[in-house]
Amino acid sequence: MGLVVQKYGGSSVADAEGIKRVAKRIVEAKKNGNQVVVVVSAMGDTTDELIDLAGQVSPMPAGREFDMLLTAGERISMALLAMAIKNLGHEAQSFTGSQAGVITDSVHNKARIIDVTPGRIRTALDEGNIAIVAGFQGVSQDKKDITTLGRGGSDTTAVALAAALDAEVCEIYTDVDGVFTADPRVVKKARKIDWISFEDMLELASSGSKVLLHRCVEYARRYNIPIHVRSSFSGLQGTWVSSESTEQGDQKVEQAIISGVAHDTSEAKITVVGVPDKPGEAAAIFRTIANAEINLDMVVQNVSAAATGLTDISFTLPKTEGRKAIDALERNRPGIGFDSLRYDDQIGKISLVGAGMKTNPGVTATFFEALSDAGVNIELISTSEIRISVVTRADDVPEAVRVVHTAFGLDSDSAEAVVYGGTGR
Ligand code: ASP
Ligand code: MG
Repeated sequence: MGLVVQKYGGSSVADAEGIKRVAKRIVEAKKNGNQVVVVVSAMGDTTDELIDLAGQVSPMPAGREFDMLLTAGERISMALLAMAIKNLGHEAQSFTGSQAGVITDSVHNKARIIDVTPGRIRTALDEGNIAIVAGFQGVSQDKKDITTLGRGGSDTTAVALAAALDAEVCEIYTDVDGVFTADPRVVKKARKIDWISFEDMLELASSGSKVLLHRCVEYARRYNIPIHVRSSFSGLQGTWVSSESTEQGDQKVEQAIISGVAHDTSEAKITVVGVPDKPGEAAAIFRTIANAEINLDMVVQNVSAAATGLTDISFTLPKTEGRKAIDALERNRPGIGFDSLRYDDQIGKISLVGAGMKTNPGVTATFFEALSDAGVNIELISTSEIRISVVTRADDVPEAVRVVHTAFGLDSDSAEAVVYGGTGR
């Protein structure tokens, strides 16, 4: 008998009908002879509504209370799901993250899982129950306070439980049929990927693909837990994410040269203008940014104009950190020494990801030609072994993603990609 962990996102359990539909699916898995652990997100937009509510009573809610509030969303869905399963004649028990043994550090709103001790889940399974676990929450090791793992954290809960319980697979049910070669909301001809390696999936996730969070894939790679991303609205095979493509799903699938095109419009660009071209300048700028606890993405520096001895340094960062970064740099301007700062939040990033680019010459050229043919101007470029990213105007992003997708032969010739729910979770 196998053990499977299934995770259902908020759009899959948006209302009572959704919960009943999901309950049937879970019972099917149980009837097929599996032990089943289910991780569930809050119904529909519940988490957003709770955040909104908190904002109405306090501009800066305390992290501890905020987490206590948000975890209520998952408690509602877990209890309702257990009821719906019992109504179908099967045994089910729901557990909070804390009861399920999800132990975290004490950083409220973005806690990290440090241990999973699923004793109660094991017992529940051994007694013939389906175990339902509230996603995205845990309990802090030192203070024993309730914590949350950050938005979208239920995927990480699912993978962590799958690792702790030595599950065969972690199934992530969402409102699309799997991981696509581009966001199907932007590229109608996006193609479902049958199998993708952890490495390519990690790059897609950090380049803006939202179907799986980076942290969840990182966890799965560390413990080598295969993930199967699929739709809870259809019976189709989804996308397998694992270290090797062997015998996953129906057939053996090969590694593609290019896995997909990701895009991200959540970043902004800061240009530090007129930086003296001497040792220690970049260090001073980025120490300032680091001390403000801001994560950077791309960094670009020009050679200095010989006459002035000054250069410009540009970098990208999450828009949400823009204000903080500008303030920190302005405060340290006397020490660093630069002329001015330019802030631009109308940028977008397009990334091409695929391990095959290591061994296939011409990928960069094809990428840039496609953008040029579409009249898209490139502002910044950065590359890793298996990724090329460019920054363009935000307005150019949808068209740029489409032309690059076509240029690499990724367009599907079958029906359009289906988006069943709408939120992508
Ligand atoms: N309900 C939480 C959120 O909306 C966690 C999750 O869905 O994974 O972010
Ligand atoms: Mg959610």
